[in-house]
Amino acid sequence: MAGTDHLCPHCGAELRGDPRKGGSRPFGAPGCPYDGLAYASLRAGHDAIYFGPWRRIDAPPMEIRRAYHRIGRHLDAIGSALAGHDLPAAARDLDQAIESHHAADPREESRDALRFMDNALSYAHRAIDDLLHEKGLPPHQPMDFAEWYDVVEVPFRDEW
Ligand SMILES: [Zn+2]
Repeated sequence: MAGTDHLCPHCGAELRGDPRKGGSRPFGAPGCPYDGLAYASLRAGHDAIYFGPWRRIDAPPMEIRRAYHRIGRHLDAIGSALAGHDLPAAARDLDQAIESHHAADPREESRDALRFMDNALSYAHRAIDDLLHEKGLPPHQPMDFAEWYDVVEVPFRDEW
């Protein structure tokens, strides 16, 4: 992890920049953008992967393997959050995410592995949105938090 990153003590979000100044934007508000939101740690966990370096065109294999394992832990966290709910749609989305994650083999370093990882993350996002919907809340919008990450390019999902 780069020296400028810091972890939010509340939700575990990995945020860029100086924690005393907040975020990477020049005049950003201090603190963590997720705190106070429902499922803050799931949102932060999703976005850390969503905006992660593995999605760069030139991502080294190490970053792809790291993302693969992070997706696995993220799906575990969603599973724990779903445990106390009767949300069949969310459970189905999580199952699809786990299936895609299993299909991704980062050792192959193939484009298919990246596609399956991307699918897994998409299904994970849906499961989080299902949880939010149960609370009557709008879907999670990663781009609302983009400025808190070291985003080097627009995520490539639309290319698939
Ligand atoms: Zn936080």
